[in-house]
Amino acid sequence: MIEKWIIFVIIIAAGLLAYLVKALTKSGALAAIFVGAAVMLGFNLEGLFLLGMFFVSSSIWSEYKKSVKKTMEEKLAKGATRDWRQVAANGGAAALFSLINFLQPNVIWLIAFAVSLASANSDTWASEIGSLSKKNPLFIRTFKPVERGTSGAISFLGTSAALAGALLIALFSLWLFHLHIFLAFLIFLFGFLGNVIDTLFGAFYQQLYMCSQCGIETERRIHCQKATLRIKGISYIDNDMVNFLSGFIAALLALSIVFLVV
Ligand SMILES: [Zn+2]
Repeated sequence: MIEKWIIFVIIIAAGLLAYLVKALTKSGALAAIFVGAAVMLGFNLEGLFLLGMFFVSSSIWSEYKKSVKKTMEEKLAKGATRDWRQVAANGGAAALFSLINFLQPNVIWLIAFAVSLASANSDTWASEIGSLSKKNPLFIRTFKPVERGTSGAISFLGTSAALAGALLIALFSLWLFHLHIFLAFLIFLFGFLGNVIDTLFGAFYQQLYMCSQCGIETERRIHCQKATLRIKGISYIDNDMVNFLSGFIAALLALSIVFLVV
């Protein structure tokens, strides 16, 4: 058995490394160390392994055919270096449920933890793979085709990727935590539901800005080195907030079902 403190040292080293290779900003690295430590406390190496599955598989898909996605990144809020907001958006709910499980162990927290990761994975796979769809996606409010990379739009490829992303986390949860098959199915179902909630939020509430210089519609607040103008959406509801909320809501729904049934 590996001593726990060694794992914590590795988590800190990994955070520092991510900062040094400019994958994360300083705040992003601190947030990632916090998430890693929380998951280790709550769910040990199995939890870290599940978190790692999300991190590694999502990173692979975002590197995949990167040049094709280049033009789309102008539209999306994400930059190359992630700060604490992006880390919290994808790992914040998982860290929260880990800490609660550390204080008050219960299988419902494990399900909530796995669902929040399944949702993050489902969402990341959907956008990274879905953006490579040959056909333009359909905006769910109008069912009319829109540009690839638009929040709130769906495609067959993206939806298939979302199902696969949730399934991967559910299968690894089943294996790592020796779960009952029903619970693994819940993780899959609610992980995918998290992606659906994400799409709905994206279509109805998410902010959209327009660059006053070049006229592009974007989720970025700064474009062409100037502040962009908000043309749609609600204050504070940006992509990071949408990601966090959708995973958190899906996890709470799954948790309620387990609480009532098991
Ligand atoms: Zn511009």
